[in-house]
Amino acid sequence: MASMNVRSGDTVEIIVGTVENRGKRGKVLVANPETHTVVVEGLNLVTKHRKPRSAQEQGGKFEQPRPVDVSNVALVCPSCKKTTRVAHVLGENGKWLRCCKKCGATIDTRAEKKQARAAKAKTAPKRTKRSKADAE
Ligand SMILES: [Zn+2]
Repeated sequence: MASMNVRSGDTVEIIVGTVENRGKRGKVLVANPETHTVVVEGLNLVTKHRKPRSAQEQGGKFEQPRPVDVSNVALVCPSCKKTTRVAHVLGENGKWLRCCKKCGATIDTRAEKKQARAAKAKTAPKRTKRSKADAE
């Protein structure tokens, strides 16, 4: 099975590519081990033009992040904030943990993800209502 050192919820830096993306950091929204790609929040954007197909739907330009290959990004260590490679160490509970090769801190986003999910459940889904602002 293909595996990657980058998981969703990680912060990565884009290390190659166009100038507008290179050197920038963002959060991984989706990690796809099968295609070896990650979708990074706010980076590698493509503009989509969409027509409204119904009265409720809004047309216009939408910016969407496009998947980038994992080899084009570097993981950013959450404790030392440097781009790093990943070491694997055996944790106390017998599970392999990801570790920063530079500062040695364990990189485990699972606990953070759990927290984020709990926080998300509490707050209502955000929705910007444009039609109201336009009418005024
Ligand atoms: Zn580190």
